[in-house]
Amino acid sequence: MCGTVFPLPEAAHIIDQREWIEKKGEEELVNGIPFCPNCHKVFDDVLRPYLYRALAAFGCSDLPLCWRKSNKVSDVTDKRLPIEEND
Ligand SMILES: [Zn+2]
Repeated sequence: MCGTVFPLPEAAHIIDQREWIEKKGEEELVNGIPFCPNCHKVFDDVLRPYLYRALAAFGCSDLPLCWRKSNKVSDVTDKRLPIEEND
């Protein structure tokens, strides 16, 4: 996303590995996306919750549950963003 090029970029799971395997049975390359470490974190912690909210509001269903909220990292990110938790 940022344009940074690494010889070996990180690979992020688009859908969390556990959720993917629960539904699909096994990992597939199509569920990966290369990122630099910073973009990986932004994708997991920021983009996915925004995408989930927009797609749900648009009427899309069967969205990945792992996109509902920030994946891994900071409470700080969640507090800065107007992301509503509907659990
Ligand atoms: Zn980047």
